[in-house]
Amino acid sequence: MPRLTVLSGPSGVGKGTVVAAVRRLFPQIWVSVSATTRAPRPGETDGVEYHFVDRDTFARMVKDGELLEHAEFAGNCYGTPRAPLERRLADGVPCLLEIDLQGARQVRASRPDALFVFLAPPSWEELVRRLTGRGTEPPEVVARRLDQARVELAAEPEFDEVVVNDDVEAAATRLVSLMVDP
Ligand code: ADP
Ligand code: 5GP
Repeated sequence: MPRLTVLSGPSGVGKGTVVAAVRRLFPQIWVSVSATTRAPRPGETDGVEYHFVDRDTFARMVKDGELLEHAEFAGNCYGTPRAPLERRLADGVPCLLEIDLQGARQVRASRPDALFVFLAPPSWEELVRRLTGRGTEPPEVVARRLDQARVELAAEPEFDEVVVNDDVEAAATRLVSLMVDP
């Protein structure tokens, strides 16, 4: 039974929304809290969705080897703190990382036994709608994320499993069933 699962997929597909549903519906799954230099969106709380840190702090975490993987995405840095994850894995708790494609590839290199799940949109048009509809980014940031999303969609065959995010709770339930009953 894979204890570590990596969820990736294009920006705007609903990774954050599906992971929030996993937290709510399946408290037995531990969800890693990433560090990021991005500013919090309305409704985000430091220590819950992310640890919000400045660039100097992020650079120090990288230098001190505190991050399992890290990547720059659309102008901001993101990384997975290593110690809390290793503690949960040692305790046998199923762990979920929600990270971008570059991060997933780094984890694939260091932990090839992990389960890699791709969250796919029902269609490209629906992905554009979600990314635009979130309304949290200025148009040039949305455009940059759509360019990135095209690249990320092409990586689907690298993943062990694909979950289509049609309905949020259904996608969360399918994801967890893969994690605990592969
Ligand atoms: P990501 O974390 O992948 O960038 P978000 O979780 O922020 O994506 O979701 C992007 C937008 O799509 C949000 O407005 C969210 O409410 C919406 N969304 C997510 N999942 C679904 C779904 N299954 N059906 C419709 N809208 C969704
Ligand atoms: P957002 O800014 O929309 O929350 O996230 C942007 C992208 O960064 C998403 O694709 C998300 O999966 C990714 N991401 C979040 N945390 C991490 C992390 O710790 N490492 C990496 N590599 N990517 C992350």
